[in-house]
Amino acid sequence: MLCNRSTSHGIKRILRHVSQIRWNHGSSLPEPYIRNIGILAHIDGGKTTTTERMLFYSGKTNVLGEVHHGNTVTDFLVQERERGITICSAAVSFDWRDYRINLLDTPGHIDFTMEVEQSLAAVDGTVVILDGSAGVEAQTVTVWSQADRHKLPRLVFINKMDKDNADFHGCLQDLEKKLGIVPVPLQLPLIEHGKLAGVIDILTGTQVVWDKQSNGRTYKSVPLSEKRELDVRNSLLEIIDILSGIDDDLAQSIIDSDSMENIDPELVLRAIRKCTLKQQIVPVLVGSAYKNIGIQLLMDAVLKLLPAPNERNEVFNCFGTDFVGKVFKVTHDKQRGPLSLIRVFRGSLKKGSKIVTDKGTSETVQRMYAPWADEYREISSISAGNIGLCAGLKSTVTGDLVVVNVSVLRNALKKLNKDNASSEDSDDEVLATKLSFQTVVPDAVYFCSIEPPSSAYQVALDNALKEIQREDPSLRITYDETTMQTVLGGMGKLHLEIIKSRILSEYKIDVDLGPLQIAYKESLEESCRDSWTAEKEIAGNRQLVRMELTIQGNKCDERFRLDNSPEAQENLKLIRPKQMSFVKKGAFAALERGPKLGGQLMDASIILHQLTIGKGTADTFIMAAAAQCVRHVLSMAKCRLMEPIMLLEIVMPSEYLNAIQADLNRRRCTILDVTSRGQFHKVLRVNAPLAELEDYSSEVRCISSGTASVAMEPNGYALLNEMDEASAVRRAHGLE
Ligand code: GDP
Ligand code: MG
Repeated sequence: MLCNRSTSHGIKRILRHVSQIRWNHGSSLPEPYIRNIGILAHIDGGKTTTTERMLFYSGKTNVLGEVHHGNTVTDFLVQERERGITICSAAVSFDWRDYRINLLDTPGHIDFTMEVEQSLAAVDGTVVILDGSAGVEAQTVTVWSQADRHKLPRLVFINKMDKDNADFHGCLQDLEKKLGIVPVPLQLPLIEHGKLAGVIDILTGTQVVWDKQSNGRTYKSVPLSEKRELDVRNSLLEIIDILSGIDDDLAQSIIDSDSMENIDPELVLRAIRKCTLKQQIVPVLVGSAYKNIGIQLLMDAVLKLLPAPNERNEVFNCFGTDFVGKVFKVTHDKQRGPLSLIRVFRGSLKKGSKIVTDKGTSETVQRMYAPWADEYREISSISAGNIGLCAGLKSTVTGDLVVVNVSVLRNALKKLNKDNASSEDSDDEVLATKLSFQTVVPDAVYFCSIEPPSSAYQVALDNALKEIQREDPSLRITYDETTMQTVLGGMGKLHLEIIKSRILSEYKIDVDLGPLQIAYKESLEESCRDSWTAEKEIAGNRQLVRMELTIQGNKCDERFRLDNSPEAQENLKLIRPKQMSFVKKGAFAALERGPKLGGQLMDASIILHQLTIGKGTADTFIMAAAAQCVRHVLSMAKCRLMEPIMLLEIVMPSEYLNAIQADLNRRRCTILDVTSRGQFHKVLRVNAPLAELEDYSSEVRCISSGTASVAMEPNGYALLNEMDEASAVRRAHGLE
């Protein structure tokens, strides 16, 4: 994948001609003619290659980019083109038949999971791509469950069917077994002389072949040969059989016509669509993006089988026709400043309008652009169901809900709350639970210090980091008082390396990163209780907070609760809810840093027994006092370190199994299972401590002479034994 490249990026960009003849994004296309889709896969499945074909066939580009030439539209960061991978989700739009498709190409590497999560909140359906020779891989399972969380209807595209070891039926079995879904193949690979020659369309009973000369731009359908006809007929009957067990309308027409033989294909298609939207089945298509086979039919399936914006998102009905949208990504452009990608759910957003976020910030949209990877074309409005970029929003961040004024939001939330009779939820809770507006920032698993080349660059570096963090909330930035260094927390080694190289290429600061450290968590061995008094005079006002609390280490539904004994209740009922919310805030903040290595406390919960707040004490003082109290209790508690564990899936030719297992045994691993893939490969699934995996990917390639591949994803935390803990502490203090 990482290939030599002789031409510079600049020249390649000039070579790319963008056709904008049919471009008319500013006009408001009706929602039934819009499809917002995410494209998901295990790394290297072929997302970028497929996207590139879609742009080419839709007439949006007239040069076909390739990942290994570093000239694709969606991998536009220098780092992406150099490494041949997608780091940021890119949004592109194109027209196909009379529809507009807004497509988000998402990063495949686990270090960038958060980007995928944000994109999924902005789309209505997804295309999941499989590598036909690998089937359902580790990360396919991860992105699948992410799409489940967002309740997104899906299509599967089995790509790379041109490869010798591609296995269509194996992929279908994998989908059933590993994802527990009902795959409904709408196509079969057309194999001639042992090679992929095209696609058989089961519903129309035709075979489709693509013209090589035009890079697959033209294609034709021809009737099937007699030999194939019978097989394909049987496949159709199988589809009808599956659907009739799920869709009552189709079952009824079979009963009415007394057979499955004469069912109108339109009726079958309608049943497929209905069942896909309800996520009861997953239609499966096949092809080869690289060999330009099957892409137009995949785009047709997106129009026919995935939902239009107005077929989902009913929860936003409470906004009526008022504008409401979600900021699902912020990127930074040197000339245009921060650019926020917004998905509009209701109403429309016009250039120059004022917007307000759910956090209360208010800003003006200065300019708007149509989504087109890193090239920009101005538009004047974004209509309901559409996606666009807004310039001029300096404090709006990824995950924000945006409306035109506070009262629109307040009225909508009131309506939502009324629909739910039992509810007395706060606005924040309604936003999180009903509108799913709560950005979950994944835990950092690695951190390292970052230093500018000289202190003259410190301010510029702080700004650069702030800008990058707005784009990428999974980057954590803290300041370590003891070492007086800025510390970055990230999702992996690649994540932090990319940040470093972006700071150099985009901000021209050549920073130094300290050694990578594992982000341990801490766990309380037993409950601990004590009291604390904070007292101070600030500007002539006496501030006083006295409290007593217990910190528990075991998992508990409530992270913060009040002691329910009568005497505690007598005392605590005097505290105003607003003051209590500051106590919680301070206490939770202190739980973020454990006493051992400053790692976050896992599963810790607090019981408040006593609280006295002096008259006139400021809320911020209450918050600080609560944090001090928690820190004080923690300083007496017995804590243990917990280390991040990764789930590894290693695919290798069978002859390397022993060598790879022997190496894993030296890394404190637990082998979960060993299965076969095809005749010649084995798949090992292993739980391994992150601390043992530095450079594991290259190690495994070395052991297997480059034939094995490894995928990893975070899989929780585990307690370290005392010896390993002592050595982790020494290492963290630079003593080992
Ligand atoms: P992504 O990581 O999902 O974006 O995957 P890419 O589009 O970057 O593709 C990964 C690699 O697989 C690249 O080298 C592609 O050229 C190659 N590839 C993509 N589609 C196909 C295909 O249909 N057949 C074959 N043989 N290779 C493909
Ligand atoms: Mg890619």
